[in-house]
This record gives sequence, C-alpha cells and structure tokens, in this order.
Amino acid sequence: MPELPEVETVMRGLAARLEGERIARVAVNRADLRWTLPPGLDRALVGRRVLGFARRGKYILMRIEGGRTLLWHLGMSGRVRLAAPGERVEPVPHEHVVIETGSGWRVGFVDPRRFGGLDLIETDSEAAHPRLARLGPEPLDDAFTPAVLSAALKGRRTSIKAALMDQATVAGLGNIYVCEALFRAGISPRRSAHTVAGARAARLVAAIKATLAEAIAAGGSSLRDWRQANGELGYFQHAWKVYGRAGEPCERCPGPPRCRGIKVEVQGARSTFYCPRTQR
Ligand SMILES: [Zn+2]
Repeated sequence: MPELPEVETVMRGLAARLEGERIARVAVNRADLRWTLPPGLDRALVGRRVLGFARRGKYILMRIEGGRTLLWHLGMSGRVRLAAPGERVEPVPHEHVVIETGSGWRVGFVDPRRFGGLDLIETDSEAAHPRLARLGPEPLDDAFTPAVLSAALKGRRTSIKAALMDQATVAGLGNIYVCEALFRAGISPRRSAHTVAGARAARLVAAIKATLAEAIAAGGSSLRDWRQANGELGYFQHAWKVYGRAGEPCERCPGPPRCRGIKVEVQGARSTFYCPRTQR
C-alpha cells in the first residue's frame, strides 16, 4: 500500500512529465471507484494546461488551469502508468481513467481493488476537501516538531503505533513507515501514546523525518501491486530494517541464541514488526 514516500515519488514522476502540458483527452472506463468519479471530468479537464503538482499526506494534487485541482488517491493498490509519446501501450486490466496530453504523454490510473479514486475540486478550497481537512501536519515540514507531536499525543491511551497510523496525528504514514520509524527511534509500538513526550518525542520526530527522507531518496518503496510512476518495474528495492523481517536479527542485535530477532504481532488488524529487545 503506497504511503507518503511512494505517493511523493508518483507525484514527482507525474510532475516531471506533465507540468505545462495541455490535456487533450480523458477517458473514464469505470467511474465507481472508492467514490464515484465526478461526472463531466473529461469536459472539465480537456483543453486545459497542467500548472503544477503538490502532495498532501497520501494525496496528489494536480493543479489545472482555470482554478481546478484533480485530487488523486492511490488507495490500497492504485498505481499510475505513464507512457511517453509514441510508446506502445499494452492494455492492462483495471485501468479506470486515462489522460492524454497534447504532446502525446499518456497517464493511466490503474486500481484493481478500487480503494483509490480521483476527484475534482476548486484549487482555492483544496484544504477544505473532506479527505484533506482532517489531516495532521506534514511530517517533513519544519512545522512538525517534537512539541507538535507531543501535543497531538497528549492524553491518548491508544498505542503509539495506532496514534501514528491516525492521519490526524501526522499525515501520510502507514503500517510500513510507522514500524520503521518506531524501530529507528527505539520506541515500542505498544507503548501508550501519551507517554511519548520530551526526549522520546524528539527521537521519534527525527526518526520519522529520516525514515521518510531515505525512502523518498530511494524512489519510494516497491510492493506487490505497486509500480513506479515511470512504469519501470523493480526500479529500486528499498531495504526495510524491520518490516517483513520477522525472526531475523535487527541491525542492533546479536541474533540467536542471545536474542530471538524481530518479532511480528497483529496490532489493530495489521502486522507490526519490531525488536522487543531495543524498542521500549
Ligand atoms: Zn533487535
């Protein structure tokens, strides 16, 4: 499932090719995605130029001439297939929306599970969109500080893992990056959220920023239903430190027989990977 670094990578891939392009054709093959696509999407986009891109949490904002923004949500399995002008495009199942530009770039929105979607909103009121209004701070912004995080965690008796998965605490993190950031910070995923304050909150904020920055630098992270925005499969392989590594020694630990390695357990219906020896 794409999280902030993957969405950032897709956004950068789209921006590199589409900024300044004029939209020539929009085909909606299927409108009932996570939500029903806005009717008249093609009429609203065709003939207009793409002004630029931004990201908020796990959402891509594609700003279009005329004061509109196309919001992209990749959901669980959504991906963006990009083809250069003149490139031969093989048909694939589940390609629900196709956008073509005047100079021949082709962008397909593919989503087998249909938990993703596209929406058309007024650029002026982007922040008020129901999917964006409740999002917490952007983790990579300077405004995301230890004080901001501890304030958001104050009084919360839920686990720190659940609190970080909550998009209102901080935007864009999911199961993988929460596990990785908690490992880096040496904080147990089971720790009660309200106890993460002071030096511990400082460690966690630094760990979140470093984890995300590294993954973005690696070009996002590749999972089963996920493809790079440029369509190159297996373009990179990101090395998780704990995610998916149950039973292996972590980089801080000696491994068996002195410790039993990375543990996996189900927490809130998702697998949590952590080192019980170094995460407290
Ligand atoms: Zn360990």
